Amino acid sequence: MSVAMASTPVVLFTEQEIAKRVMEMGREIRDDLEDVRDVIVLCVLKGAVFFCTDLMRAMKLGAKLDFIQASSYGSGTESSGVVEFLKEPQVVMTGKTVLIVEDILDSGLTLRKIDDYVAARGAERILTAVFLDKPKARKVPFQADYVGFEIEPHFVVGYGLDHAEAHRDCPEIRILPG
Ligand code: 5GP
Ligand code: MG
Repeated sequence: MSVAMASTPVVLFTEQEIAKRVMEMGREIRDDLEDVRDVIVLCVLKGAVFFCTDLMRAMKLGAKLDFIQASSYGSGTESSGVVEFLKEPQVVMTGKTVLIVEDILDSGLTLRKIDDYVAARGAERILTAVFLDKPKARKVPFQADYVGFEIEPHFVVGYGLDHAEAHRDCPEIRILPG
């Protein structure tokens, strides 16, 4: 941990709290999807990688994994509102159940666009799992099927979430001091 992070006072969720909650989410998803053949996990790069690998190991569904990268933030802490795809998945989604795994649901713009994209690729059923949700920050309506924790609209880092590419490897979720 960098000196700056070590002096950051506000830890929202500890490593232990994160691990416990992700395990609960994985079990819930497993209970819901254990009878579904060919589940595809679509991990939203880059932030969700940490959450996604933990979640898949808790789900234990033998799901396929692919990645999509969308960008709306640049290096700032405010969404630009324009969502672009930087990487598109290769996996065939036609007729499949696709679980989109995202680190945080904020304005809803990114997940709205990814959800529309997955629908256009022919998925039969689309579910979303987000580790964090800021319901008060929504600009378009969007409700995730699985939510780790609801938080106030702070800008947070850690457990995959970055600020200008820093702090992804911080094992806790912390509020970035303003
Ligand atoms: P949305 O399109 O819902 O506004 O934003 C989703 C994306 O914005 C997330 O995937 C994440 O990359 C970024 N984002 C939103 N809120 C935060 C935050 O509090 N911290 C960090 N690091 N990224 C965030
Ligand atoms: Mg993201």
